[in-house]
Order: sequence, then C-alpha cells, then structure tokens
Amino acid sequence: MHPREHVLIVGGGIAGLALAAALDPGRFRVTLVEERPERAGAGTVLALWRGAMADLDRLGMGERVRAASVPCDHGTIRDTSGQVLVRHRTPQLWFAPRPEIVAALESALPPGVTRFTREVTDPRALAAEVGADLVVGADGVRSVCRQSAFPGTAPVATDWIVLRGHLPGPRPEGPTEWWGPGGLFGITPGPRGAAWFCAVGTGRADGLQAPPLEEALALATGRFGDWDPLLQRVLAQVGGEADVQRILLAPPLRRSAADGLVLVGDAAHGMAPNLGRGANEAIRDAVTLARMLHRHGAKGAPRAFHRRRHATTQVLRAASSVALRTATTTRLARVRDHVLRAAPGQAPPTG
Ligand SMILES: Cc1cc2nc3c(=O)[nH]c(=O)nc-3n(C[C@H](O)[C@H](O)[C@H](O)COP(=O)(O)OP(=O)(O)OC[C@H]3O[C@@H](n4cnc5c(N)ncnc54)[C@H](O)[C@@H]3O)c2cc1C
Repeated sequence: MHPREHVLIVGGGIAGLALAAALDPGRFRVTLVEERPERAGAGTVLALWRGAMADLDRLGMGERVRAASVPCDHGTIRDTSGQVLVRHRTPQLWFAPRPEIVAALESALPPGVTRFTREVTDPRALAAEVGADLVVGADGVRSVCRQSAFPGTAPVATDWIVLRGHLPGPRPEGPTEWWGPGGLFGITPGPRGAAWFCAVGTGRADGLQAPPLEEALALATGRFGDWDPLLQRVLAQVGGEADVQRILLAPPLRRSAADGLVLVGDAAHGMAPNLGRGANEAIRDAVTLARMLHRHGAKGAPRAFHRRRHATTQVLRAASSVALRTATTTRLARVRDHVLRAAPGQAPPTG
C-alpha cells in the first residue's frame, strides 16, 4: 500500500475540476484552490469534440453532459452579406452549456477533496504550507503558476475582443459563422435556444482588460453595421447581459512541466477561440495527467505528461491564431472566399 501523495490544484475551472474528479482518492489527497468560485456557473455554450466527450465518459459524466447538449455534424460559413460561402461537415460535436459541464464535474468530485477560496500569489509557498508533492497550475491564461515557474511568460494581449450571450428563440440545427474583414460573428445552438458570439478587431492591444460592455457593444455595432442585417438585430437585443473579454493568449512555451509543477488547460496553452478547442484540451490534459499520476506518481508524472500533451497543444494554440487571421484578414478574403466557394462536395451557396 503506497502512502497517499498530495496534489495541490490551483484553479477550479474546467481543467482543475476535471483533474480533481479524475484522481483516485485512494491514491491522492487533493487540495483545490479557487479565487472566484462564484464564476463557476458563468458562460454560454462550448463546442465539445469526440475526444473530450470520451474523457467525460471516463469520468462518468458523458451521459449527463450529452443530455444537456445539442449534437451536430455540420456548420455554415457566410460572408459579410450573409451569402453562404460553404456548408461543411464537421466531425461529431456537441454544443454544451458551460454551466452544465462545470456542474457535472463538480458532482463528480470525491468528497475528500479539500477546497478553499483564495487568490494564490506564490504557488510553491502554498505547496509548502499545505505539504503538497505536486502543484498543478490550472489557473487559466493569466496563470500565476506559469509565470512563477517560467519567468517571462506573461499573457499576450491581442487587439481582439469577444462578446457573447444568449439568444432566446428557435434553436438552430448547427453553427453559422459570418467571416469578414476585422470581424467574425457566430450563432450556435444554446441552452436558451441559441447563443451568439462575435470577435471584433479593435486595432489596439492596450492592456489585458476588455473595454466596458457599452463601449464593446458600440464597437461591435459599428463593425457589423453593414454586414448581414440579422447581426444588427441580434446585437440590438443584447441589453446588459453579454459577456466581454479581450482575447488573451498564453505565450509559446518550450515546456509545460517543471520539477514539482505542471500546467494544464489555458495556463499551458490559452488560445484564440476560433478552433473551439480550449476547453476540450483542458479536459484532455486533466484526464491524461490523472492517468500519468496514477501510473508514475507525483515525481514521474510531469515529464510523462509533457511527452504526451505538450506538442499537440502548442500546435493547436498556434493554429487557432492562424484560424482567427484567416477568417478576418482583408488581404486573404478574396482567395479564402474563392477556395471556400469551390470546396468540393458542398451544398451550393444559397444565401
Ligand atoms: C468566446 C470564447 C468561446 C470559446 N469557445 C470554446 C469552444 O467552443 N470549445 C472549447 O473547447 N473551448 C472554447 N473556449 C475556450 C474555453 O473557454 C477555455 O479554453 C477553457 O474554459 C479553459 O479552462 P481552464 O480551466 O484551463 O481555465 P479557466 O476557465 O480560465 O479557469 C481558471 C480558473 O482559475 C482561477 N484562478 C486564476 N488565477 C488564480 C489564482 N491566482 N488563484 C486561485 N485561482 C485562480 C480562475 O478564477 C478560474 O476559475 C472559448 C473561449 C472563448 C473566450
């Protein structure tokens, strides 16, 4: 019988909760520290791909999340006027309400997990204080764990902001995105019928904060003012409920694990939202790290985890930025639209 090792998880978002849920309480004592637990139920909808759903199945949560989600295997991309550029098949994915994913993970936590509310400023000092054998930085794109283990890795501010919210009304069968210079608009199935989001290039990467909602809405209304009139109607119904964020990226990392510390989720690879992969990779990281911990213990797991996850997630991080630029760069627009319209096997553009 091994003595139980102690894992300190900093951050109780999707990555931190999934790891705490995946660790065998017979093998590991777990302390989970979250600075703002009231944010747990926030957010609209996330696209989950097959791999992450299989990991949720491994945690016993797949059926619950599937039951609250809208499955989908196709999407539509339109140009600024609303003309269809392409209708494309996607691998099977599910549009899952973020609050439901979080609630499912919360319900899977073993009763022995110690939780407290605190802003962690020095992860190694806290590990010494609680007697942890391993610190897991699951503290998002602004990660204090990343910056303390790998100096010079402050989050990278982009000149893009994202607004998102719910859209009551009929549930669309699949996601639609409108692509054009300096902007991207999306409508997906959502818990209240539909959910909308838009990314707006502001031309200024001034600081890590997003502008206040009113200012962000004015920017979006200006940007999408001469696009498909449907988008103006969506923005007009927003009220005070939308969420605004600046798109922040994790810097490229050579390593996401050091002695006694591992980064998972956005802390390791915070990316532009364009591929819809951030939360998926957070779940995959958590389940893989748990497996490595069960196999190698707290000492061997960081290196084994790095070998399995680091390269893939760094590539996705870079590819997401390319996807954002491809959708929204004026110079690429003509070539891109031509290629999309000519894509084989697609339904004809109907508008
Ligand atoms: C507009 C938009 C759309 C998206 N769509 C998708 C999608 O369709 N599919 C998808 O897979 N992903 C999507 N994502 C990305 C996804 O939301 C994130 O990748 C995912 O939520 C990251 O989870 P995380 O647990 O790593 O980080 P976070 O959710 O950021 O959680 C980190 C937690 O750590 C806590 N914390 C931070 N610092 C400290 C500290 N010092 N002390 C204590 N606690 C701390 C925070 O309060 C937070 O709860 C989207 C993102 C955006 C912005």
